Amino acid sequence: MRAVDVIRKKRGGEALNEAELAAFVRAATDGSWPDYQLSALLMAIFFQGMTPQETANYTRLMTHSGKVLDLSDIPGVKVDKHSTGGVGDKVSLILAPLAAACGIVVPMMSGRGLGHTGGTLDKLESIPGFRVNLDEAEFRQALKTVGIGMIGQTAEVAPSDKKLYALRDVTGTVECVPLITGSILSKKLAEGISALVMDVKCGKGAFMKNRADAKVLAEMIVRVGTLNGLKVEAVITSMEAPLGRAVGNTLEVIESIETLQGKGPKDIEELSVVLTAAMVRLAGIAPTDEAAAILVRKALASGAALEKFRQMVAAQGGDAKIVENFTPMPTAPDRAEVVADFAGFIGGMDAEAVGVAAMHLGAGREKSEDNVDHAVGVMVRKKPGEAVAKGEPVFEIHHRAGKGLQSAQWLLKAAYDILAIRPTLDPLVLEVVV
Ligand code: URA
Repeated sequence: MRAVDVIRKKRGGEALNEAELAAFVRAATDGSWPDYQLSALLMAIFFQGMTPQETANYTRLMTHSGKVLDLSDIPGVKVDKHSTGGVGDKVSLILAPLAAACGIVVPMMSGRGLGHTGGTLDKLESIPGFRVNLDEAEFRQALKTVGIGMIGQTAEVAPSDKKLYALRDVTGTVECVPLITGSILSKKLAEGISALVMDVKCGKGAFMKNRADAKVLAEMIVRVGTLNGLKVEAVITSMEAPLGRAVGNTLEVIESIETLQGKGPKDIEELSVVLTAAMVRLAGIAPTDEAAAILVRKALASGAALEKFRQMVAAQGGDAKIVENFTPMPTAPDRAEVVADFAGFIGGMDAEAVGVAAMHLGAGREKSEDNVDHAVGVMVRKKPGEAVAKGEPVFEIHHRAGKGLQSAQWLLKAAYDILAIRPTLDPLVLEVVV
């Protein structure tokens, strides 16, 4: 089969058949098509789209381009959660221990931060000694003994996605619903899970800036997951303002532990409970969201989830003492503030600007090969809806010797507005797509 014929067919708006999709995915895996032909087909898909069935076939082929874990020898229902990415989104660090404390096995393969969004692996690596690169035997052992494994995507998992994602990144073809769906679900299907809760973020700090686009993505993910035998539910959640108060790696780990101690910001706690409850219901452990939420809240209040977090850190080589004492984690040597020019209530807050500010400080990466500074970041001292006095800090900047400080200050100064009356806030959970 000639690559050019497949490209022309998609360029003309036709659905690709199984053999054509297989040739494309094989070529992305073994390099048998040059990058310019892979990229041309990606661009044709970007403009012409794919049907749900075509996307489901593409996803299955991507999944089987590499290793698919069989976790059937490990007792328990395997369920994961995946977020499309946001600012201050540390839910995975709270949800995995909560779910494990409720009896779920969570084999979580996560990503690194890119652009203004953070990544779970970078956050975990703020913990001294924590290894995200467990080999398969170690991963299985962690799942068996703790019920949680939090690792990076290995070279063997969905190698076609690794190639195609890198090409999409440099050819302006990332924001494409069937390609995003195939990319996310191929990796999740390879984890050996039976159910998945997708957190589709929507708003200024997310990939999907508006509700309609988020819904299209959520529906495609649910449809394609279901066609591939996975129980999937998508929750569309607001990403207008940063989640919680901490943005930056160490800062977010600290906030996650505080949430597991019952002392975290209410938005993070609420979202973690809602998403974990959906996992618990999908796992068949509770019949309804309400019943599941009661179990999850018990795991939080009893300290069982915090204990799971401690065990998870220890099982992956990390210094588990950080649960009681944060000092071994890297902290930034310097502080600065952005203060309110007048009194009132915080109105809107631009999550993307806060994420970019943190990135300028060194907390994130512009290119995948950049290093991150785990210590730096931004603390949101005043969140939307909160009262602020003139001169009070809205943001506290944790920086290293002024690196990126000026641009962070400019961004943060313009990242919020102050209103005379307290605004009504939109709910965090916008919609559930099943
Ligand atoms: N995350 C992924 O893994 N793939 C995408 O295409 C987008 C977000």
